[in-house]
Amino acid sequence: MGKYILAVDQGTTSSRAVIFDRGGKIVSMAQKEFKQIYPQSGWVEHSSRDIMGSVMAVIAESLARADISAEAIQAIGITNQRETTLVWDKKTGKTVCNAVVWQCRRTADYCEKLKRDGFTEKIYNKTGLVPDAYFSATKIKWILDNVPRARERAEKGELLFGTVDTFLMWHFSKGGIFATDYTNAARTMLFNIHTLQWDKELLRLFDIPESMLPQVKPSGSEFGFTHKSVFGTPLPVCGVAGDQQSALFGQLCLDAGDVKNTYGTGCFLLMNTGGKAVKSGNGLVTTLGACTDGKPPYVLEGSVFVGGAVVQWLRDGLKIIDSAQRSEEIARSVPDNGGVYMVPAFTGLGAPYWDAAARGTLTGITRGATSAHIVRASLEGIAYQVNDIIDAMRKDSGICISRLAVDGGASANDFLMQFQSDISRCEINRPDTVESTAYGAAFLAGLRTGFWKNTDELRALKRGGTVFRSDMKSDEREKLLSGWRDAVGRTLTK
Ligand code: ADP
Repeated sequence: MGKYILAVDQGTTSSRAVIFDRGGKIVSMAQKEFKQIYPQSGWVEHSSRDIMGSVMAVIAESLARADISAEAIQAIGITNQRETTLVWDKKTGKTVCNAVVWQCRRTADYCEKLKRDGFTEKIYNKTGLVPDAYFSATKIKWILDNVPRARERAEKGELLFGTVDTFLMWHFSKGGIFATDYTNAARTMLFNIHTLQWDKELLRLFDIPESMLPQVKPSGSEFGFTHKSVFGTPLPVCGVAGDQQSALFGQLCLDAGDVKNTYGTGCFLLMNTGGKAVKSGNGLVTTLGACTDGKPPYVLEGSVFVGGAVVQWLRDGLKIIDSAQRSEEIARSVPDNGGVYMVPAFTGLGAPYWDAAARGTLTGITRGATSAHIVRASLEGIAYQVNDIIDAMRKDSGICISRLAVDGGASANDFLMQFQSDISRCEINRPDTVESTAYGAAFLAGLRTGFWKNTDELRALKRGGTVFRSDMKSDEREKLLSGWRDAVGRTLTK
């Protein structure tokens, strides 16, 4: 049995490899950024060679740093940027064009047309998603419609589609593995999350041949072995999950009602709703979570467009702080928000408001307001937006949320975490290592291969952490929330 698990985390701006030991400790880690390609306004691409090259480089580096050879690896787990779309030749492995990244808006007009033509409900009922350019389906259609001869070749069965996990496994195995997992499939807008099958009606709607699609398996499965020439020895790939679902698993949010939030540039909240696919009345999407058996849990997902990005704006735009870390000290330098509220709707407001035309608003400014109040109001503004999603999840699921697991860059801010706990009336658990995404992939692969026996063993791994408990009187909370609601009301355009 190998001594380590290798997690490959292929993200939007960088690829990382993390090696874990049986105690759940990180033995070594390597990271490599790669190029973002912006061919025109609103379009985002990655070169498939950069994706593959950076992944191979970080794996080699992480092994070298740990001073081990590939034989010491028990299994590989993969987690990846979701929805990003690759189409490649079945014989050569060469992509027909650059990867179309999840952020790319090239199919936004087509998605608007889908909505106008009345497909929203059908798509939501089958896939749990609202028609949007993020998801892979319209990106595949775009490639088949626009790359010369692509449709003809796809119809002859010569081309394959995959999200990044599928592409990596296909290349690791020299074409031996053509598969994905439920969490990635669920973000394509082609997968029926109730029947757990590719949906033939949607394939017809988007004009995509079924022969292009990978086999779909539970996240913790034996996907297959890497080709021996790739790492010098064949290694099994036993865990695959999209980044957000991997983080949910890595935070051990395994039961209905468990919620995690990642405080990055934006915020991503995912709630495990167990065996029940909850329909949202508040604009959240319904998707699938990671599992090691055949029954993936359902997940409610909501995101905040501007999270940590508001702190970047304070630093780079307004220039009232010199580093993101300093925001904490400055926020604490005033006893309260002084009546100032910041709604960071820089790119519109998402769930539960859905107002694309809304823009950022500062309210309650008096002669006594200082830059410290603005910094404090900005951090509080992140927490209020997260709280709005938590409330939507409470309403949609009928489940009481009493604990929130957190990770991501801005979760390092103790002021923000305490305020979140106070406003949302829940306990916040922040693990010492906020590598939840890589943990998720490693846990899946480790559970599958018996490296870790069961989830109890995972819970017992000493990962340390900080707990924040709600410590605010309800009348104060109500007063603050009412100030926030007032500020949002002034921000909305309709
Ligand atoms: P991403 O994965 O989206 O790039 P990260 O998880 O690396 O994001 O988090 C980076 C974000 O967190 C940035 O927007 C930054 O402004 C914010 N951030 C980092 N440290 C802090 C801090 N101590 N307080 C508040 N925000 C922070």
